[in-house]
Amino acid sequence: MVKKQKQKFDEMDLIAKDEFTLCKCLNCGYEQEVPSWLIDEINDINKECNLDDHFVDGCSRCNKDTMVTMKYYQSVKEHK
Ligand SMILES: [Zn+2]
Repeated sequence: MVKKQKQKFDEMDLIAKDEFTLCKCLNCGYEQEVPSWLIDEINDINKECNLDDHFVDGCSRCNKDTMVTMKYYQSVKEHK
């Protein structure tokens, strides 16, 4: 009985747990995990404002707005 209840709580934790997306700074290469919902939200705002449609955030190491998702980071580095 007790064991069954604990299992249910574990499942709830999994649902409530935030998903993170690995981001990397284009300037200094610092890696940081950013909550996925935050990236989605910023992407939506960017679209509404007709800005770049990719996520950009401030880097906590070099303080430049060059923190992008790993996916975007790789696409930029590949095209160079
Ligand atoms: Zn940086």
